[in-house]
Amino acid sequence: MKIPFLNFGATHHPMKNEMMNAFEKVYDSNWFVLGEQVSAFESNYAAFNQVKHAVAVSNGLDALHIALKTLNIGPGDEVIVPSNTFIATVLAVSYVGASPIFVEPNIQTYNIDPSKIEAVITSKTKAIMPVHLYGQACEMDAIMQIAEKYNLTVIEDNAQAQGATYNNKITGSFGHINGTSFYPGKNLGALGDAGGITTNEPTLFEKAKVLSNYGTRVKYVNDEIGFNMRMDECQAAFLNVKLNYLPTWIAQRQEIANWYNHHLSNINELILPNVAENATHTYHLYVVRTEKRDALMNYLSEHEIGTLIHYPIPPHLQKAYSNLGLSKGDLPIAEEIADTCLSLPIWPGMQEEHVVHIANTIKQFFQV
Ligand SMILES: *Cc1c(COP(=O)(O)O)cnc(C)c1O
Repeated sequence: MKIPFLNFGATHHPMKNEMMNAFEKVYDSNWFVLGEQVSAFESNYAAFNQVKHAVAVSNGLDALHIALKTLNIGPGDEVIVPSNTFIATVLAVSYVGASPIFVEPNIQTYNIDPSKIEAVITSKTKAIMPVHLYGQACEMDAIMQIAEKYNLTVIEDNAQAQGATYNNKITGSFGHINGTSFYPGKNLGALGDAGGITTNEPTLFEKAKVLSNYGTRVKYVNDEIGFNMRMDECQAAFLNVKLNYLPTWIAQRQEIANWYNHHLSNINELILPNVAENATHTYHLYVVRTEKRDALMNYLSEHEIGTLIHYPIPPHLQKAYSNLGLSKGDLPIAEEIADTCLSLPIWPGMQEEHVVHIANTIKQFFQV
């Protein structure tokens, strides 16, 4: 049985007519940028994310970049980020001229370890950017308490965890202003690049909206050095349809994760995902760890099972960040995760027989 890492067809096929109708509506409207689809998506997504405001933007990286800009974070400032995140979190900090300060994750949850944050706070620290990695909510109560104590802002990177919760509160609604991604492979994906910003603060919302559209409040009047970082009407129309399915897709991802947990239990050399107390996990990725990662990945590939590594090189060891002067051994937990993690196939609509086949192949590899 050939199993790809991701199968968009299974998710998209049942909704093809709805998506085609959404496209036709935009096509016939002859209005392609900043129209009714974008406005509708902003209110629909804000309602889903239980915040007062959302801004539809071009992608997740731009969402984080704008979020930092709205808080006037810039040169000389320090922003705390997890050491094991996707590069976009760190790039956004670099774009505004601030310095990323890495904090190691908890090795159980792979999310930033709140108990290690206070040690790196200096007079230059302006913000904390927790990343709800792989789909699991960070320990937001502890993070918000630290932020309050030191008067820092919080920007959640919610690209992987739309719909996750911590203590029953939804991710993307804790921080002062937060970014998310609707990259096709994310839990809520457009048919191209798209992203979003969420906030409860009207002034941050207004500024983010203005920055995303050339810094203009009145056409051809520029109040700020803004960007062209808008979501287009087609992507908003697609996302308006797909948002209705998101809760079902998250439930399906959680069910698939339960199948994996069941069929992969009792393999000594394989570490399964752990969910923290009070957190929920939306399983954007189902990530296992083993010392034999590379051999397992090859074995699965030989058996036509697609896997990926999220992520093989932590940001501090990337050439792009050699100027930070960090080297191997400086952030050992991030490095350990990079060397041992493996993401198994998961997509809404995946069947239990797929999971059983993958689990059996993994058991063959470990000879159990
Ligand atoms: C995908 C992702 C981003 C960036 O989103 P894009 O839409 O690809 O720009 C940022 N942070 C994390 C954690 C992501 O997974």
